[in-house]
Amino acid sequence: MKALCWHGKHDMRCDTVPDPKIEHPRDAIIKVTACAICGSDLHIYDGMIPSMERGDVLGHETMGEVVEVGSENKALKVGDRVVVPFTIACGECFFCKRGFYSGCERTNPNHKRAEKLWGHSPAGLFGYSHLLGGYAGGQAEYLRVPFADVGPVKVPDGLTDEQVLFLSDIFPTGYMGAEFCNIQPGDTIAVWGCGPVGQMAIRSCFLLGAERVLAIDTVPERLILARQAGAQTLDFLEEDIYDRIQELTHGRGAGGCIDAVGTEAEASASFDSDGTA
Ligand SMILES: [Zn+2]
Ligand SMILES: [Zn+2]
Repeated sequence: MKALCWHGKHDMRCDTVPDPKIEHPRDAIIKVTACAICGSDLHIYDGMIPSMERGDVLGHETMGEVVEVGSENKALKVGDRVVVPFTIACGECFFCKRGFYSGCERTNPNHKRAEKLWGHSPAGLFGYSHLLGGYAGGQAEYLRVPFADVGPVKVPDGLTDEQVLFLSDIFPTGYMGAEFCNIQPGDTIAVWGCGPVGQMAIRSCFLLGAERVLAIDTVPERLILARQAGAQTLDFLEEDIYDRIQELTHGRGAGGCIDAVGTEAEASASFDSDGTA
């Protein structure tokens, strides 16, 4: 099969590699129909992640169709469409039983190396270095999913790949950030950073009942997307974020700074025109 492989800093190649096989009775093999590039993949691309080896297949945001199922896997059958979470979880250990799947104690065979670095090893991850298990990732034509009776989420008919793919990582990541805020009706929530996870966090805040979201970034395209989601945007290169948030949430001025007032008028105008479009 074809797969995207790491060969060193800034050296990614589309290689031909062996097709994955069932290695454990709970595995499944999926034919990948969509995958995404994560911001975290850029750390690997930039050579910032230790224990990468030449030829490692990247990708941890993947979905597809089940083409083979291990003999003990009762959860999936050939033909199911699934989104695969980036963490690999056994479903049975201390952490998995409590729902803390990213702390799974059984899926990182190199946990001792990870413990030296972080004190405790996280779960094994797809396509994210040998420190995190050395699992082949899903930027490939096929993916072996270990413990595939735990993680994969079956996709209901009628939903497209694009509608569900981000369940693999960035949507739950952004949602969790919003959930941590314990949002109450009427709350204003500030979201720092409007990259893909920030965009998901903005939408999750509204889903969870926030009345207003203040989205903070400086990249114009990100700010436009944030306004399209209904957020009010603040540009951290153009205004003092602390003072602006104080003004917007307490009606208090920022010490009579005319620039800040002028910027506020512009921000409100652009929110009104884009946010209600
Ligand atoms: Zn990711
Ligand atoms: Zn576990």
